[in-house]
Amino acid sequence: METASPIQALQSTLAVTSIEDQADFKTTREFLSKFTDLEVLRHWANHPLPNAPKLLEEAVGVAPDLEWLTQDPKNKIIDQIEGKITQIGWTVFSMSILKECHTPAEFPALIKKAAIYYVRVIENCHLRAKEHFLKDTEINPLYCPTRFVSEAEAKTILSEVLDNQVTADGRKRPVVLIGHGWNFDEQKLNQQWGFKFKNLDSILFKVRSLGRVAAMAGVIPWPNRDLGEGLLKLDEMLRGFQIDLTNMWRHDGANDALYQMTLAFLIVLFPILYPGTTAGFPTDASIAGLSINDIWTDVASNKDNAAPVDKGFARFCFYCDATDDHDGTDESPCPSKESDTILCKLCANAIGKKNKRYRDRAHGHQTHRCTLQWSHQCRKFPEVIKPADWSLDDKRALTRGMALADDAMIGAVFRKNIIGEGPIDWTVVADEEKRLEFEATQYSSGEEKELDEDEE
Ligand SMILES: [Zn+2]
Ligand SMILES: [Zn+2]
Repeated sequence: METASPIQALQSTLAVTSIEDQADFKTTREFLSKFTDLEVLRHWANHPLPNAPKLLEEAVGVAPDLEWLTQDPKNKIIDQIEGKITQIGWTVFSMSILKECHTPAEFPALIKKAAIYYVRVIENCHLRAKEHFLKDTEINPLYCPTRFVSEAEAKTILSEVLDNQVTADGRKRPVVLIGHGWNFDEQKLNQQWGFKFKNLDSILFKVRSLGRVAAMAGVIPWPNRDLGEGLLKLDEMLRGFQIDLTNMWRHDGANDALYQMTLAFLIVLFPILYPGTTAGFPTDASIAGLSINDIWTDVASNKDNAAPVDKGFARFCFYCDATDDHDGTDESPCPSKESDTILCKLCANAIGKKNKRYRDRAHGHQTHRCTLQWSHQCRKFPEVIKPADWSLDDKRALTRGMALADDAMIGAVFRKNIIGEGPIDWTVVADEEKRLEFEATQYSSGEEKELDEDEE
């Protein structure tokens, strides 16, 4: 069994990129922008682009896949947790490995050369999809170990993977990002984690949709948009290559990362792999006698040897926050959960007749992981504070503050709704001098009035 590529997902030291390098990255990015996705990818597969910058020789491919909590139509999920990023998987490989495939027999080795990584976000790992086709995907990465990392760590890891790959002599390596449905992933990363892809200098090129690449290669037809057609979905393309998706745990971040990388390789190397097929999917998609499922089975057999991300924990229980202890799945017992010692203060203190069903479910989940709170009826408030005009969010915040006896949370709602948001500009509050000056301008009329009264 071939071991995983020596490429590291994470570098312990930051790469030093000289000013000349930065200019080099910029001109190379501009150079690539003149070509199609397929032309760019085939550059490394023995179809070099004319006058290609030398920098491309060092390019690293990264195929990332993000998963987030999606709406369950039967069991309405609430806006506050809908869309939270729960898992990230990615593969890393030298783009130049594509050059090594001259015959179908050489293809399986390419797939095995990629390193595969998988992290679950600790803060959101209790947000598990219930829908049939998504159920349990997060606990079934088939090709690499799981690491549980904090949201902050996940963000750092992804930044390093995309923007801090380093050559042996410490220079930054350029990155070619191979995504699928990548616009959505990028949007999520931007909205939730403040990811600014424009600032990631290393990324030379982004493939956003493998459907587009497949259409460019003639593997699938371009859709007729006038007829409302769309590009084929990932599953449909995989099935086009006669891949059996039964028990393949699609929608696990790491599995999907491998699947989308493989699909990209199949499209890029299509003329070598399927010389008899000029357009459309091959009638026989096997490669050197192996199905693509066989190739993946071989990758899966190396799962226990695959090096994981060097941060976080191998295990994490979202019932009790224990690490490296027992699995935090619904199936494996958590001792604290079993002994009924875990109590959600929000559910336990949800006042009123209609909230009885939530009080009844107060045991077994932690306050900070309560998903039921968004379905609670807001408690009744004293008439004197007139909360009728407040937004639902504010009413909920006050309800939560009361349930937790959290005076800061209660105060924040009162400040906003009764005292008012201003005038303190919280962006300058750190500078005491500026803050006082600012406040003085805002409050001057009140102070003057008081002074007038004093003078009388
Ligand atoms: Zn536990
Ligand atoms: Zn609760």
